[in-house]
This record gives sequence, structure tokens and C-alpha cells, in this order.
Amino acid sequence: MEESGTVTTHPFLDLPPLSAARFAAVEGRVARLLGTRQDVLITQGEALLPLEGAIRGAAGPGTVALNVITGPYGQTFGDWLRDCGATVYDLAVPFHTAVTAAQVREAFAAHPEIDFVSLVHAEAATGNTNPVAEIGEAVREQGALFYLDAVASVGAEPVLPDAWGVDLCVIGAQKAMGGPAGVSAISVSERAWARMAANPNAPRRSYLSLLDWKERWIDAGRTALPHAPAQLEMLALEACLERIEEAGAEAVMARHRAAALATRAGAVALGGGLEPYVYEARDAAPVATTLRVPSGVVASELVAGALAVDPSLPLAAGGGALAKEMVRVNHYGPAAAPETVRASLSALAAPLTGAGVAVDEAAALRAAERAWGRAGDAS
Ligand SMILES: *Cc1c(COP(=O)(O)O)cnc(C)c1O
Repeated sequence: MEESGTVTTHPFLDLPPLSAARFAAVEGRVARLLGTRQDVLITQGEALLPLEGAIRGAAGPGTVALNVITGPYGQTFGDWLRDCGATVYDLAVPFHTAVTAAQVREAFAAHPEIDFVSLVHAEAATGNTNPVAEIGEAVREQGALFYLDAVASVGAEPVLPDAWGVDLCVIGAQKAMGGPAGVSAISVSERAWARMAANPNAPRRSYLSLLDWKERWIDAGRTALPHAPAQLEMLALEACLERIEEAGAEAVMARHRAAALATRAGAVALGGGLEPYVYEARDAAPVATTLRVPSGVVASELVAGALAVDPSLPLAAGGGALAKEMVRVNHYGPAAAPETVRASLSALAAPLTGAGVAVDEAAALRAAERAWGRAGDAS
């Protein structure tokens, strides 16, 4: 019998407090990953926290925003911007493509008063990725503040706020970084801080307030945390940054690029009418590959059939209206691996065959392997 008063130890529990110095060191590692000299703040919640906090901090009734919609998140950002009283011009492009810098320039020409641009870098939900470097050039010429959701791109492809002129760059660790979902980070330029400081509607004394953290944490020399940090998530973020540094960020990104190319090539070779949802390979995100199902096949049923083969595979049907037509292969984090791509293609082949669709599984596996090899040679 246990002595009364003893507590069973557990690896997640009874940890020593996370020090301010360790918290700041994790922020420094995120800054290095992003190659940024801007202030990096680790926000104590899922990425929606800094995504919303940055918009509510920077936008107000005087803001004129260009909101680029290439998937479901762009829709949400437009809602927040309107909520803040901003004038919002939506630039929506079909989910099977990416937005171009030329389209952004056209919007500036039509509305020269635009002073804020919101953009999602890569969309895991739709499988596209946008040319942020080129768009950033146009935004710089316009002099607008540039807000970027890089949650689904970081770790899968370069995310370079300083080089691209991004003023507010939000990342999360739960996709290609292979880390926790409960913390996120944002890099903030001097311009963006100034815009927030001048905004009377920017949240203050609020969980959404980035300015509170600037004053109480960054400007105070990162010596005392304003409140108890999300300790487990911070440790997990530190571990995931360590793992990326050990492998090399380039190698992690190359693995995601290879997984996307292999999945795309494999799906095409599988045949039977399964097609890449994003038409052009250059617009397809390295983080996840979306596929359009053959006519007569319901995507959510196909996914259910594939998961019956192996429930651990990173397969999902599209969200909302896309549930009928889109399959998502979420080959990110540890799933950006040749065996996961192979197993995903095989698992999709079985229910397609069952539905009477003629597919060539062996050809798909060969094509995926070749594409992975070519991607490796190119990196
Ligand atoms: C995944 C993702 C997020 C974070 O959303 P969760 O669904 O909570 O993971 C934010 N933005 C984009 C573009 C994403 O793909």
C-alpha cells in the first residue's frame, strides 16, 4: 500500500516552472527559423489567437483592406476586418489556383487607398500556395501593411517575413513543423507596432492584445512573463524546433516538397479520373495535396473506405461543400514520408476498385517513387 501523502509522478505533471529566459530562447529560435529581425512573440493559444489579435490590433474604421481569398481562412479574415469597421475589398480566386501579383496590382490600381493586405500563404484546406515574394513586392510599392497566415507553409516551404516585406507573419507548429497546436507565434514589424499603437480600437488589457505583450514582455526586456505560460506546449514547441534544427530546415522542407510531388504524380498515375485539385504543380502547396475524385464517387465515402484499410493515414475529405469532391492527403510533419505517401495511394486504390473504377495501383506506386527520387535530386 502507498504511503498516504505520496504523489505518483507523471512525465507531463509536476514540472518546474518555465523560466522567462527559456521562453525568450524559444522565441529566438522561431526568429531564426523565419530569418527575421522583427519582434517575435510566442502567443499562448492556437494560431487563431495571433491571427485575430493582429487584425483587431492593426485594423479599424480608417483601414482600407485588400483581403485575398484562396480558401476558407481568407473568408474568416474578411469577416474580422469588417467587424473592425474596415472597408474591405475581397479578391477571391478559385480554390484550384493561386493568386498572382498581377491580380494584387490590379486591385491596388482600382482602389489606390488600400493600406492593408491580408493573405494566406499556403492553405492546407485547399492545397494551394501563393507567391508571397512577388506579392510582397507589389504590397511594398503600395505602402500597405502586409499580414500573412503562414501556419500551413512554415516548415514545408520558405517563410521569410523580412525578405518579403511581411509586417505581421503568423505561424503555428501543428502542421509541417510537426509540433503542438496549443501555441503559435507572430513576427511584428516596427510599422505594424506603430499602426497598432495608433489604433484606438486595438485590444488592450485583453487576451487578444499583442500590444499588452509588447509593453509588458518585449519592451520590458523579456524578463518577466505577464502570466503563467502554456508550459507543456512551450516544451513541445522547443522540442519540435530542436528536431527541425537537427535535421536542418532545408531537409524538412525538401521532405514536404517530395511528398507533395510524389502524391501528385502517384494520383495521376493511379488514373480512373482521380486528379490533382490544384491544376498547376507550381500552385500546389508542399504541406498537403488535394485531389478531385472521379465523377460518381463521393470523396467522403472514398476517404472512409481508405481509412478502413488503415485508420492512421493522414486522409480527410474536403471541408463543407468540398466533402463530396475533394480528398486531402495531409502529408505534413512525420507524415511527409515516402511510406505514408505509398500507403495513402494504396488505401485510395482499394475503395476506387471496389466502386468499379479502373485504377493502376502499381503504376501509382512506381510514379510516386520516381517523383520522390527526382525531388531529392533537385534539392
Ligand atoms: C491549419 C491552418 C490554420 C490553423 O487552423 P487549425 O484548423 O486550428 O489547425 C490556420 N491557417 C491556415 C491557412 C491553416 O491551414
